[in-house]
Amino acid sequence: MNIEEKLGILTDAAKYDVSCSSSNSNRKNQGGIGNAHVSGICHSWSEDGRCISLLKILLTNDCVYDCVYCINRRSADTPRAEFTPEEVAQLTIEFYKRNYIEGLFLSSAVSKNPDDTMEKMIRVAKLLRKVHQFYGYIHMKAIPGASPSLIQEMGLYIDRMSVNIEMPTESSLKLLAPQKSYESIYRPMLAIGGGIEQNVAERKQFRQAPKFVPAGQTTQMIIGAAREDDFTILQRTQSLYDDYKMKRVYYSGFVPAVASPLTEGIVKPPLLREHRIYQGDFLMRFYGFHSTEILSQKNPFFDLYLDPKANWAIENIHLFPMEINRATYKELLRIPGFGPKSAQKIIQARRFAALSYDGLKSLKISTKRARNFITVGGVYRGGNFSSPDLLRESMRNADPDNYQQLRFFR
Ligand code: SF4
Repeated sequence: MNIEEKLGILTDAAKYDVSCSSSNSNRKNQGGIGNAHVSGICHSWSEDGRCISLLKILLTNDCVYDCVYCINRRSADTPRAEFTPEEVAQLTIEFYKRNYIEGLFLSSAVSKNPDDTMEKMIRVAKLLRKVHQFYGYIHMKAIPGASPSLIQEMGLYIDRMSVNIEMPTESSLKLLAPQKSYESIYRPMLAIGGGIEQNVAERKQFRQAPKFVPAGQTTQMIIGAAREDDFTILQRTQSLYDDYKMKRVYYSGFVPAVASPLTEGIVKPPLLREHRIYQGDFLMRFYGFHSTEILSQKNPFFDLYLDPKANWAIENIHLFPMEINRATYKELLRIPGFGPKSAQKIIQARRFAALSYDGLKSLKISTKRARNFITVGGVYRGGNFSSPDLLRESMRNADPDNYQQLRFFR
């Protein structure tokens, strides 16, 4: 099999990994301009906020495991291929020199066993860094069950590392990925997290100490494969941020790409569910919410037609309206329609004078979504709703996420 055929198979096999979004496309250039190459080039964000394009491939899709949700599972009837480490390094450099990419995102199926696969991936990283003197961004997936010493070694050559948590509960992992266990996933996660902490301390003492996974670790969770509710997913996420210092958790809606009696009848979850889970995740990371404030055992699913913060505010309507000239930063963050930037602007501006609606306007802070939840200088400009349900109904109809894509032509 030539390298182009391998590239076709191993970029296609990587497309379900959502740690960065893929621009996979198979449009052919028929004499015009542009080249939407079939190879997976995806985009990610560097620490300084730049958008960078990455070559996104698998080292191999020839897996000895048989995870029910995976297109590359051992029992799936799919073409198989494997790159050598030298081929991956060469491809990365060639793509880089042509200005197609700025870095590499490399994942892999488990070829013989976790350690053997990790060793090959480490070889790719070493070739890039030491032989090709490549200083671009490298993100690699650590293989669940790999030895801590290999995690340590890999971490010295790459920028970001991730281990997929896969399922929101241990029981669903056992059911759908019987060769994996939470232990085999959490062990490398802990090794990465511990290594990062230790490295930060070392670099404070010795500035020349080599960097270990400087861009942090991330993980990915599959949604909807085992009928877990959104509350369970958020609780797992909370623990990943709190206990494992995860930089980011990504969510991937289950794609019933391979038939199995264990997932029979389960359909791909609606995109809006994934979107609401991402919003819940943002509330925990940037707005100071705990998972138990967003959802509960009694109310375990997101309202698909209302954003989670508005939903929380309506459930806690006794806390509103809030006077924005008195609310603390934390309280301002809880007002629907206000984000960290608006909250900061309000706190800064009111040091000099009390704010009015015109004052908010001149700060370019919209009160369109917030108006039912605030007073400004004692003035309320929201609607008069006789019950929270009516407010909910009105906000559901106004939620921009519920709009359908506008047609360009009528
Ligand atoms: S180990 Fe990874 S590649 Fe292999 S079947 Fe499971 S999810 Fe797929």
